[in-house]
Amino acid sequence: MHWPKNMILRQSLQILWRTPLHEVLLWRSRWAEGRRRCYSTALSERLRERFAFKKATHSIAQLYLDPEISTELRLASLPVEQKVVVLHGWIDSAPRKLSKRLTFATLRGAQFDFVTSNGSSAVGLNGDSSEDLAGKNTIQLVQMHPENIKEDDYHSLRRMKQETPVCVEGTVGIHKGTDGRYEITIVKITALNDTMNFASQVRETKQWDPKDRYLQLRTPALQRALALRSRVASLVRTEFSELGFTEIETPLLFRSTPEGAREFLVPSRTNAGKMYALPQSPQQYKQLLMAGGVHRYYQIAKCFRDEDLRADRQPEFTQVDLEMAFSSAADVQAVVERVLTRVWRDVRGVHLEMPFKRLRYADAMSLYGIDKPDLRGGLELIDLSAFATSTRHSNYPVFEILKYRPSGPSDAPTLAGAPDGYPTLRSPLMYKIDLAKEPAEAWLKAAASEFKLKFHSGTSDVGAVAAVIMQAYNIQDGDILFACTRQQVPFENPTPLGRQRLHLLHGKVKSDEIAPLWVVDFPLFTPVERQEVVDGHIEFDYDSLMSTHHPFTMPVLSDESLGAVLDVASSAPDTHTQLDACTVLGQHYDIVINGVELGGGSARIHDSMLQRLILAEIMKVRGVLRDPEAEQPENPFTHLLTALSMGCPPHAGLAVGFDRLCAMLYGSESIRDVVAFPKTQSGADPLVGSPSEVRADVLLSYHMQLADKK
Ligand code: ASP
Repeated sequence: MHWPKNMILRQSLQILWRTPLHEVLLWRSRWAEGRRRCYSTALSERLRERFAFKKATHSIAQLYLDPEISTELRLASLPVEQKVVVLHGWIDSAPRKLSKRLTFATLRGAQFDFVTSNGSSAVGLNGDSSEDLAGKNTIQLVQMHPENIKEDDYHSLRRMKQETPVCVEGTVGIHKGTDGRYEITIVKITALNDTMNFASQVRETKQWDPKDRYLQLRTPALQRALALRSRVASLVRTEFSELGFTEIETPLLFRSTPEGAREFLVPSRTNAGKMYALPQSPQQYKQLLMAGGVHRYYQIAKCFRDEDLRADRQPEFTQVDLEMAFSSAADVQAVVERVLTRVWRDVRGVHLEMPFKRLRYADAMSLYGIDKPDLRGGLELIDLSAFATSTRHSNYPVFEILKYRPSGPSDAPTLAGAPDGYPTLRSPLMYKIDLAKEPAEAWLKAAASEFKLKFHSGTSDVGAVAAVIMQAYNIQDGDILFACTRQQVPFENPTPLGRQRLHLLHGKVKSDEIAPLWVVDFPLFTPVERQEVVDGHIEFDYDSLMSTHHPFTMPVLSDESLGAVLDVASSAPDTHTQLDACTVLGQHYDIVINGVELGGGSARIHDSMLQRLILAEIMKVRGVLRDPEAEQPENPFTHLLTALSMGCPPHAGLAVGFDRLCAMLYGSESIRDVVAFPKTQSGADPLVGSPSEVRADVLLSYHMQLADKK
C-alpha cells in the first residue's frame, strides 16, 4: 500500500504525542547506538582484516618449487584433499567477469624471486630475460562468487580494482591451455587496502612521472634491478670480507676541502657561520684510516657532488671504496679484479679472464682517441706523425687517421655530430678512396690543405708519401678515411677521431662480450680548459693545473715524472713553465669495461713533504705553504698532512662506481634504472619535493639569510 507522505507524518506524530518524553529519548539514543554499532562493526571488521591478514605460505615462484603441490597436481584427476595456499600480492590486471558468478584476474606476487627459466634456483638473476621473470611472478586467479555480491564486498575479486593489495587463500590447479602454468581457485580473497584508479592508469600508460616512482618500482623490471643491486652489494661484502678487509663507515658531515668537485654544504645551527660539506668521496677519511693502522678498508659509501648534471650523473651516488696499507697499485688492481670477476660470475654467469689487460693512457689516446676505450670492435687509429705534422694550431700537431672498410654498399658511414657544448669543434675530414675518379693521393692532399700539413724528411712528393702510407696500412679502393689532429699529450678527450670511432662502432659491438681493461700512467696534472674554442681547437691554460685524478696521487717513480715533479715543485716558480708538469705521469689507474669507466684509484703520496709541495707549489691551494713551520690556519689539509707525518704507511686504493656497476650488470645504459629514487636532470626529487624552500625564520636559526634576488 502506498501511503501519502503527510499521512505517515500525521500518524508518527500521534504515536509520539501519546508516548512519554523519556521513552522517546530512549528510542532515539538506542537508534543512534544501533547505527553506530552497525557502522563500527563493519569498519572494525574491515580494519581487522587489513591488519590481521594471514601469513603467506608461498611466493608465486615457490609454488612451482613445492614438490607437494606438483605431486598433488599430478594426482588431481583423483578426488584428493587439496592443499590451501596463501599468497600475497596485487591485482595485476583488471578482473574479468566470465559469467554472472565467475571472475578471473591476474595476481602479481608480493615477492619477486626471479626463478630461472627451469625453475631450479630461487634467486637466479643470471641472464634471465625479464619475460621469464615476469611470467613466474604472476598467476591467474579464479573466483566462483556466491549469489548477490554486495557493492562494497572486499572479499569479491569482481569488485577489486587493479593494484589492490590482496591476501589470497586458494587451491592450486593447472591453468588450461598454458604449458604447465598454475592458477589459483580462490577460497577467500581479502582486499588489504583501497587503491585509487590512478595507480592502474599510470601503469597502463607506462608514462612514468618521477612523482610516481613507487608505482614504477612495482614493475618486475625495477624489482629485478633492486634485487640485483642488493645481490651485488652482498657479493662485494662477502668477497672483501674473505680478503681480510674491514668495512668502516666514515662521516657524512665532513669539511669543505678543495679536492676537485663542487661540494654540497650543510650549515651548522650550533656553530654560527660554519658549514659541514658532504663528502665527494671518503678519500681523506680513508687515508686517515691508513694512518690509523687499518690494514685493508672498504665501504659501500654514499658520495655527493654538486656538479652540473650531465647525462646520467646523479648528485648523490654510491661507490665501492677501498684502501690498502703497505700496498701498491698492483695489489689494489689484483683485489679489484677478484671482486669484479666474482660479481660477473655469480650475477651474470660470465667468466672474466685475469689479469685484465693494461693500456697506458698515451696508448689509449693514440690508438682509440679516448681514455676509456671499448676494446670490442677493434678499429685502431693510425698516428701519422712519422710522415707529417699539422701546423694549423701549435698545440695540436699530431696528424692521425682512421681507416674504415664498409661491410657492403649499404654501409655508408657518416661524420659524428658535434659533442655536447662544443658546437664549433673541428670535425675530422672524411674521404672515400675512389680510384676510378681520383688519384690515390687525393685524400692526403685534401688533408694537407685542411690541416696545414708539413711533411717530414724533405719530401714534397705527396703522391709518394700517400703510397707509402697506403701500403703500410693496407688502405684500399673503397675504404673511407677520417683524418684529424690532436695534442701531443691529448687532454682533449675524446679526440675528434676518438668520437668518430665511437660513432662508427655504435650498435656494432657484440653486447654480451665483456672486455675489462686497466688504463694506467695517466698524466698527473691536466691543464684547465679555457671556455673558448679557437678555429675548432679547445684552448687550455697550461699555467693552471688540476689533478687528473686527485691531489693525493703519487707520481710515477721515473726520473722524468718524479724528477720533474720535484723540479717543478721545489724550484723557484719562474724557472719552469707549467707545461713541463703536464708531462709528469701519475700512479693513477682506471678500471674500464666495454668503454665505461667503472672506477679509478691511485697509489697515494704518503710522504707529507712531497704532498705539501704539490698542494702548495703546483696546485697552489690557498693556506698551504711549503714550509710546515709557517702553517696557515686556513690550510684545509692540515689534518691530512699531519697524519702523513705521523708514520703513515704507504697505501693505495680505488673506488668503483657502484650504480654504474649495477647498471652494467643489469644491462642498462642508465644508472637511474638501478637507483630506487633517482634525482632528475636538475637534481630534484619531485616525489618528495626536494630540494625545498626553507622559511626565513628557520634560515635565521642557522644564521643564514637569502640574498636579495637581483
Ligand atoms: N676517491 C677517489 C674517487 O672518488 C677514488 C680513489 O682514488 O680511491 O674517484
